[in-house]
Amino acid sequence: MSETAADKLDHAPCGFVSFGDDSRITYINSTLLDRLGYPIEELAGKHVETILTVPARIFHQTHFFPLVKLHGRAQEVFMLLRTREGDDVGMLCNAVRHERDGIATTECVFMEVHERRKFEDALLQARTAADEANKAKSNFLAVMSHELRTPLNAIGGYVQLLEMGVHGPVTQPQLDALARIDRSQRHLLRLINDVLNLARIESGRVDYVSETVKLADVIGDTLPMVEPQMASKNLRLESKVPSDLVKADREKLQQVVLNLLTNATKFTPSGGTVTVEVKPHGAAEVMLSVIDTGIGIPEDMVNKIFEPFVQVDTSHARAGEGTGLGLAISRDLARGMGGDLWAESRLGAGSAFHLVLQRG
Ligand code: ADP
Repeated sequence: MSETAADKLDHAPCGFVSFGDDSRITYINSTLLDRLGYPIEELAGKHVETILTVPARIFHQTHFFPLVKLHGRAQEVFMLLRTREGDDVGMLCNAVRHERDGIATTECVFMEVHERRKFEDALLQARTAADEANKAKSNFLAVMSHELRTPLNAIGGYVQLLEMGVHGPVTQPQLDALARIDRSQRHLLRLINDVLNLARIESGRVDYVSETVKLADVIGDTLPMVEPQMASKNLRLESKVPSDLVKADREKLQQVVLNLLTNATKFTPSGGTVTVEVKPHGAAEVMLSVIDTGIGIPEDMVNKIFEPFVQVDTSHARAGEGTGLGLAISRDLARGMGGDLWAESRLGAGSAFHLVLQRG
């Protein structure tokens, strides 16, 4: 290297170091020396790992050096260098290795990454704060829901006693009013139970008991729960008994399937059809689909309905039916069991909800 080129390199706005295959430093520029606080005498001929932190030394031995030796170069590798005072300095390194007259040299350029580290730290802090806030929210919801259930159950119980005439004769208008209180009480209880469920799932306080489950059993146990509503709406049910086995938590799987069947029943007008279909999904998964010929979902809402409290603005939602939590819970449960849940739908053209689980 000519005198002037070395001079220029010495004061370049980046660190530069070269070393041989024995890792002894053959050249290090002033920029890097100044940044690390070393006089040249202390580093010339020293092992390059002298300027690395302990984790960076391990990284250098196991990854960086073998990589450069194999490929002749490395690009944008993050390394923690160590100053003479023992402080860490984050740097991005580009390296090339070349051989001249049988002597191999590796040359590295280092750029300090102040800004990136600042952003990374800020991101990490924001993420931690968000996680904590989320946990606090889930805890608050869990406690509140639990506390609200007790008085609500009492309201339900007293309404029933009044309806039965335990406290004296009840007129028809009073019975009508009691029926309304009863409906509202049930709705509120369902909402609170759903919120409690979601809070538990989101705070990771739900245990999944994974076992091999026969899909035919789950469908067979769940259908009788919706058949009365289907019959009252004159809906046709099409379901073939599948022979597939899946890995799932039986109770939670039943909860998801029940939610899908209840929705299909709710959102399909009289005379429609609800189909339960099971198909392979790739080599390792099975897909259970609940398909209806109902009112469908607007395109821009198909993904949103899986978010808590999101309902399509229909007469059902306006009448305060449902809580808008069923699908959020179902998707969390499906993912908790190692599967997934999504929908395909068009407004007025029915909906298909697909639940994918691992084959058992
Ligand atoms: P809920 O049924 O209690 O309102 P869900 O989370 O189960 O809550 O569903 C959210 C919304 O998604 C429903 O309010 C409805 O607007 C829409 N939806 C769900 N299933 C169907 C379906 N099969 N057909 C049409 N819309 C549906």
